[in-house]
Amino acid sequence: MKLYNLKEHQEQVSFGQAVRQGLGRNQGLFFPSELPDLGDVDALLEMDFVSRSSKILSAFIGEELTSEAVNQMVGNAFQFPAPLAKVKDGVYALELFHGPTLAFKDFGGRFMAQSLAAVSEKDGKVTILTATSGDTGAAVAHAFYGMDNIKVVILYPKGKISPLQEKLFCTLGRNITTVAVEGTFDDCQALVKASFDDEQLRQDVGLNSANSINISRLMAQICYYFEAVAQLPKAQRENLVISVPSGNFGNLTAGLLAKSLGLPVKRFIVATNANDTVPRYLQTGEWAPTSTIPTISNAMDVSEPNNWPRIEELCQLKGWGLNELGYGAVTDEQTAETLREMNADGYLCEPHGAIAYRVLNEQLQDGETGLFLCTAHPAKFKEVVDEILELDIDLPAPLAKHGAMELLSLERDNDFEQLKAVLRSVQD
Ligand SMILES: *Cc1c(COP(=O)(O)O)cnc(C)c1O
Repeated sequence: MKLYNLKEHQEQVSFGQAVRQGLGRNQGLFFPSELPDLGDVDALLEMDFVSRSSKILSAFIGEELTSEAVNQMVGNAFQFPAPLAKVKDGVYALELFHGPTLAFKDFGGRFMAQSLAAVSEKDGKVTILTATSGDTGAAVAHAFYGMDNIKVVILYPKGKISPLQEKLFCTLGRNITTVAVEGTFDDCQALVKASFDDEQLRQDVGLNSANSINISRLMAQICYYFEAVAQLPKAQRENLVISVPSGNFGNLTAGLLAKSLGLPVKRFIVATNANDTVPRYLQTGEWAPTSTIPTISNAMDVSEPNNWPRIEELCQLKGWGLNELGYGAVTDEQTAETLREMNADGYLCEPHGAIAYRVLNEQLQDGETGLFLCTAHPAKFKEVVDEILELDIDLPAPLAKHGAMELLSLERDNDFEQLKAVLRSVQD
């Protein structure tokens, strides 16, 4: 597999290099030079989740890893299902929260950990550095926990993620270091970018990024779009519209990649909270990020989505107009209202999924089947969901266990020098 840097097309790397480096020169994102031909998609849809996913990922990766190796990586990573739940006639939820950290990022995080282990040189230093607005951190921490030759450093905006979310990944210790930064998620992302720009640091500690910019994460996410369609009754596979609750736009990138590989999807819908840079861009053609606005769907509080250049590239390559994307932005009040409606209809959801559901409902036309991604378990956002729905929802076992553990996070200013010291110390 060859990938090129979107900012410097002459920089070409292998899958292994892209996984290890995360980003290319000048902070450019990697993008596949070729999209594989998967052959008969209907036959693929007949396969079970792990076999089908192995086939897709193996086709992408090519000769660099054997199909047996990929099959084993996928088997290790995808140890939980991605079921469809019918919410009402013609509208389905794709539940991506049945993994160990109860959010879709388990799929990408775990496959990335497998990929990195498969392509790393023995005895080289590896430090995973990632910024999280909540869920990425938990997924990455759990995916790498106990792989002691890989150190993980996770930055998050102090006080801006839910206490339970924080407990889920800041209580692990061992090879996992978490840093609460005085600042916003965008500040954390800027610190990560600054670290990657520091060539010396990058080499000294073997920096690698594990947020949604790592190509292996996106590739893993392609697989559950196929799994969604595989579970739909055949008659409903045509005219399928998929609504994606979006923050950094990794999930939408993966969905569009799935479509480019032949998955029948009529239209994708971009659903955001008040951080609506992309919906405004699609409406006006002007890219005008504002400062980040805190919302109750905080995993989507991103005003400068990292993955957008990949979406532009893919659409251009495929000749798809950006105007083919549906879009909508949802306020906190509307999110709460939608959660109540869904609950009254018998489906317990959380804010991110509810946003996707709302925009889908507004835009679904006669004869279309609707599907929206449920990106997290309701209990992961327990405080918000309990308050809006006047419930006391049960904590699933992993959350209950971590909730009682001690927080181990370091606290640092929004300051690159302080971060550098942390990065050097974990490799000492
Ligand atoms: C990360 C996240 C999102 C946003 O996904 P992107 O791929 O960054 O667009 C949505 N919902 C939840 C629960 C998340 O954790």
